[in-house]
Amino acid sequence: MEERLDVQQIEIPEEVVQRWQEAVDLLARLVGVPAALIMRVEPPFIEVFRASRSEGNPYHVGDREALAGLYCEKVITSKGRLLVPDARKDPAWAQNPDLKLGMVSYLGYPLLWPNGEVFGTICVLDTKENPYTPEQDQTLRQCRNLVEGHLALLYQAHRLQRMLQEKEEAEAKAREAEEALRQSEARLRSLFQAAPVGIGLVSYPDRVLLSVNDRLCAMLGYAREELEGRNTLVLYESEEEYLRVGREKYAEIRERGVGSMETRFRCKDGRVIHVLLSSAPLDPGDYSRGITFTVLDITHLKEAERVLRQYTEELEERVRERTARLEEQVAETARLNRALTNLLEDLQAANRKLASTTRQLEAANQELEAFAYSVSHDLRAPLRAMEGFAQALLEDYTADLDPTAREYARRIVAAAERMNALIHDLLLYSRLGRQEMRLVPVPLDRVVAAVVEELAPEIQRRGAQVTVEGPLPEVEGHETTLVQVLANLVDNALKFAAPGVQPQVRLWAETKDEAVRLWVEDNGIGIALEHQERIFRIFERLHGQETYPGTGVGLAIVRRGVERMGGHVGVESEVGKGSRFWVQLKKGGR
Ligand code: ADP
Repeated sequence: MEERLDVQQIEIPEEVVQRWQEAVDLLARLVGVPAALIMRVEPPFIEVFRASRSEGNPYHVGDREALAGLYCEKVITSKGRLLVPDARKDPAWAQNPDLKLGMVSYLGYPLLWPNGEVFGTICVLDTKENPYTPEQDQTLRQCRNLVEGHLALLYQAHRLQRMLQEKEEAEAKAREAEEALRQSEARLRSLFQAAPVGIGLVSYPDRVLLSVNDRLCAMLGYAREELEGRNTLVLYESEEEYLRVGREKYAEIRERGVGSMETRFRCKDGRVIHVLLSSAPLDPGDYSRGITFTVLDITHLKEAERVLRQYTEELEERVRERTARLEEQVAETARLNRALTNLLEDLQAANRKLASTTRQLEAANQELEAFAYSVSHDLRAPLRAMEGFAQALLEDYTADLDPTAREYARRIVAAAERMNALIHDLLLYSRLGRQEMRLVPVPLDRVVAAVVEELAPEIQRRGAQVTVEGPLPEVEGHETTLVQVLANLVDNALKFAAPGVQPQVRLWAETKDEAVRLWVEDNGIGIALEHQERIFRIFERLHGQETYPGTGVGLAIVRRGVERMGGHVGVESEVGKGSRFWVQLKKGGR
């Protein structure tokens, strides 16, 4: 194939230029015209390459014209001879730019490279009409042949140079490729030797080890010479395994191109290792070129797998045990639940019974209280009669009675008085339980003042000292009941003094959050800890009538009254060190 050369790149050497100059000089002289030219095309221009050194030649080397309506342009495009004897008479050329230079006739030929491309033109021009003789035409053609001969030589030389250059380039490329191949081979070789897996090549179909890498030797404990050249049978744990792997692996290679399977190899020292063996033919189209294989020691993986399996089994066993235990516990819980339910049902039944008993008890209590109230009330009239008659005996018949009789009468009066007090207290107590009680804010100052006034004769009689640490707050309460309660406490504080000791009573209050605690403190005989609860029950007394007279109802009234007002009572005391009774009620007002 003729390759394409870029003819524009071809340089015209100086000695050729010289020859062409001589040629155009001679041409102008032989033809007898002022101008003979060699033009070179360099699109879009055409340039004067050589101009004859002749008399009256208006053209100079290096002159350039755009390719626009020139004689030479016509020659180039037609690639043929052009003769214009007189442009002035030819309408096609009447506007020709050469006319301005005085050139009226033209004869030219194209100059072609051997590949047919245009170099330029060779032409003669004259200042007068000139049809050019055949000899002149011949001379011009001779010159053209000379120039085209040179062009052919230059073209061939250029081509040769190009071919030489290409050959050199191809050789350099081949050298590079060879070097790359050498390097890649070296890399592959070192990879083969240093790879962390065993690698080898076996022949097919007789399975002889052709080459093995260091890793494989190290894995199995053999020297390279001990393996290369021997049948792979030496690697396997047993001949049976060797045959099985051969059968299955080659079947897989034929089917998928590669074969991979787990097997067991026997090391030189007899140890058996688990390996993952992968094989593939070097050339899938020709197994006889050898089969490559890789060997990965997976003994530790196998061991891990075994441990994992064992662990899993243990775990499952434990889960089974746990589940069984849990199921037992669930059953036990269910049993307990049932027992609890039964117990609850019993309890509910007992509760229902208790509620009904309580209701009955309350009714009986109310009945009893109503009965006690009416009995106490009814007792008063006969008692007053008894006391009145005994009193009359003492006053009106005192002279008729002997001392013993008088003493009996006096005792009747005293007993009647005591009984009267008892009935009075009982009635009070009873009324506290039945009476409607509306709670309102009550100032404690007023309550205390009323009590002190009420007990003033008693205080005076005993020479006692009563101190009130006011001002005292308001409480939610019922004033009459409050006066009653406090009077009982202060009365006891005056009464239970040790013989010969001046009673000292102190009253004060504490407010905490929404509660007010009113304290009544004395310097009396005190109360042993074990009695401090029972003294609030009715008829509970710790002393005989002779030492400390009383009914045993006072503190019962205190407790009932305070509880009816939504409060609590209590005492702090020690024998011989006085007592401190307290009453706690809700704070009154806002
Ligand atoms: P009474 O005073 O009529 O005996 P109370 O119910 O008021 O009955 O008191 C019951 C008992 O509690 C009293 O008999 C007494 O033993 C004891 N008691 C009450 N107040 C005091 C006190 N301030 N100091 C010592 N003992 C007291």
